[in-house]
Amino acid sequence: VKNLTRVFDVSKPWLNRVIERRAKAYLTAVSDVSFDVQERSTYALVGESGSGKSTIGRMLVGLLRPTEGTVEINGVNLATESDAATVDKIRSDIQMIFQDPFASLNPRWRVRDIIVEPVVARGGDATGLAEKLLEQVGLSALDAGKFPHEFSGGQRQRICIARALSSEPKLIVCDEPTSALDVSVQAQVLNLMSDLKDDFGLTYVLISHDLTVVQHMADRIGVLYLGRLVEEACPEDLFANTKHPYTKMLLEAAPRMDGFGREAELPEGEIPDPINPPSGCAFHPRCPVATDICRRERPEMRKLGDIRVACHLAE
Ligand code: SF4
Ligand code: MG
Repeated sequence: VKNLTRVFDVSKPWLNRVIERRAKAYLTAVSDVSFDVQERSTYALVGESGSGKSTIGRMLVGLLRPTEGTVEINGVNLATESDAATVDKIRSDIQMIFQDPFASLNPRWRVRDIIVEPVVARGGDATGLAEKLLEQVGLSALDAGKFPHEFSGGQRQRICIARALSSEPKLIVCDEPTSALDVSVQAQVLNLMSDLKDDFGLTYVLISHDLTVVQHMADRIGVLYLGRLVEEACPEDLFANTKHPYTKMLLEAAPRMDGFGREAELPEGEIPDPINPPSGCAFHPRCPVATDICRRERPEMRKLGDIRVACHLAE
């Protein structure tokens, strides 16, 4: 992922008509984000709502075009690749799992048809595949003939995972895969995802608002603030050797076991208006150690050992 940027036009046409002028407004949801995901690793993207993490996820799987920058998967850029067969191959190599397992399953389809749909759509042979995948995700082959409403939330997320696996993907982008689930079920689904990663040789991009969810699964964690990557490190460094004041704030606000999976409550006020982000370092209005340079100049991302960080005072 290189210099990835996504701008949305959020002008309000009705308002423009009322006040008879063009009030153009743009939201930079993702700004100049770069990172590498190694094959068979788990890369976690963490941030509050509005940090741009889901927008990045949708660009990774090709659901959304970047405004600037590139996503390359094994050297192929989906946005510019012209060879149809190459695009098709890469597309079947990438799958996405969403937060809400209720919304992403067609209620009128049997589980069997839901799971094999990506394979059937490509004209592949899906005989016995749904039954096999159901067992691999901890459900029963007998569940293939049932409908989604016959399952609990955790079971439905398992069905979503089975569907994602049906086209034998290499990369799965998981957007808050467990945050709609009961606390008791979250760990089970995460454990299943870990096992499947080893069994299928998968690579994950794991999107979450909760550092404690990704801590045990991620090989690298990227922390996003207002559409920018502000720090990236392995979990050990990120937790024990934190460089960025925002990451520190996230860690201090991280819910303990009793609040597992809840949106963290952050002390220093709300996220600022992303349409008019603060000057310099966008975090400066909330940063307890901000200085003059923070208000004037945006800190560049740089390397300190194995950590990447964008903060003037990181040293
Ligand atoms: Fe805080 Fe300045 Fe670092 Fe931004 S650059 S996180 S305002 S110290
Ligand atoms: Mg989101």
